[in-house]
Amino acid sequence: MIITHLSLTNFRNYASLEFDLPPHIMVLQGDNAQGKSNLLEAIYILATSRSPRTVSDRELINWDAFQEEIPTCRIASLVRKAGNDLRLELALSAKAATPPRSDDLFSRWQPTNRSSPVQKRIRINGVIRHAADLIGQLNVVTFSVYDIDLVGGEPALRRRYLDITNSQIDHRYLRYLQRYNRILWQRNQLLRMIAENKANPDELAFWDQQLVEKGAYLIVQREHTVAALNQLAQDIHEELSGGQGKLNLVYLRSIDKQRGKEDSEVKQTSEVFTKALQEAREKEIAQGMSLVGPHRDDLRFFVNDIDAGIYASRGQQRTVALSLKLAEAKLMLSATKEHPILLLDDVLSELDARRRHHLLGSAASYQQVLITTTDLDRFEPDFLAQASIFRVSQSHIEPLSA
Ligand code: ATP
Ligand code: MG
Repeated sequence: MIITHLSLTNFRNYASLEFDLPPHIMVLQGDNAQGKSNLLEAIYILATSRSPRTVSDRELINWDAFQEEIPTCRIASLVRKAGNDLRLELALSAKAATPPRSDDLFSRWQPTNRSSPVQKRIRINGVIRHAADLIGQLNVVTFSVYDIDLVGGEPALRRRYLDITNSQIDHRYLRYLQRYNRILWQRNQLLRMIAENKANPDELAFWDQQLVEKGAYLIVQREHTVAALNQLAQDIHEELSGGQGKLNLVYLRSIDKQRGKEDSEVKQTSEVFTKALQEAREKEIAQGMSLVGPHRDDLRFFVNDIDAGIYASRGQQRTVALSLKLAEAKLMLSATKEHPILLLDDVLSELDARRRHHLLGSAASYQQVLITTTDLDRFEPDFLAQASIFRVSQSHIEPLSA
């Protein structure tokens, strides 16, 4: 699939932008703070319905739009997929902040700082749809300097990564995830009420069964995905590191502290999950929260049997992260039979020549890849010769004749 047209209205620094995207390789060159990352962010939001950074949706709306009564931003694109045109659109509307009152002398008035809700409206081919319907329409794989946090950062980042990747591939996963999160929330409420003697522990049976039904599927799907990513990432890592170190991705289940298996099944996992809930019951009531399940699982990366999240150097962690992302793109292609769109945000400066060469070579095998950079010198001339080069400057995009 490829994006053929993108239109931004009041999205971050872009008041209004319309442009046609070239197929294959698009290099976006620009100085700092011109809007390169924001452009890729807009595409990511169309793919996943949310920003990759954990910000409030309000921040996405152009500051100037807060002069209007209903500040609204809009991201729209035309996608060419399996021979068909697909129109995807996402709009965010915020209530305008009330201007400062005259007696409000020393408080700082900040239009983007308020917490009133932002309404999200999604259209697919002109028809209003749910956010969940958007996911899987436009598939993207992002590469950024923050990828390294996947290896060394908090487990929650890795769970989020697995959730987004699985949701793009498997619609059932997304549905189950939404339900699981709701059930989890309700079950936690109940646990707190039981702890305060305001509810009967017998009521847990219903929620346990719900939690297990959705959760077991999530665990098994994640295990399958991790096994597939592992296979792909091992070869890539081998090449990127020049044969130095064997990579191993390991999914760690909280329900039995086991390493995930390639062939695990929902039925058997449900039984283990149920037993784990029984064993954790007392502790869960005491703490007032659910302590086992996919929301407590983790994904670890081992290089030569050493936990890379703890012991690897920054460079080694970066190589692991890059292997993972390239594996993800391959997995997405084989699982959906469609090329994902690759979004590379300013990643070249952090890589040595060998890794850069490998990354760009692999990226060029996809139908469409967008790469931002401050500096065209980072590319080999052969690569630039295949690319369409654009300059991003002051919220405008112009083709750059080489
Ligand atoms: P760098 O090379 O430093 O990564 P960049 O070209 O990727 O720069 P962006 O991250 O895209 O830059 O940001 C461009 C500008 O958009 C920044 O100056 C930022 O302050 C501005 N910006 C962010 N959010 C908004 C918003 N809601 N309204 C207006 N401007 C915004
Ligand atoms: Mg940037």
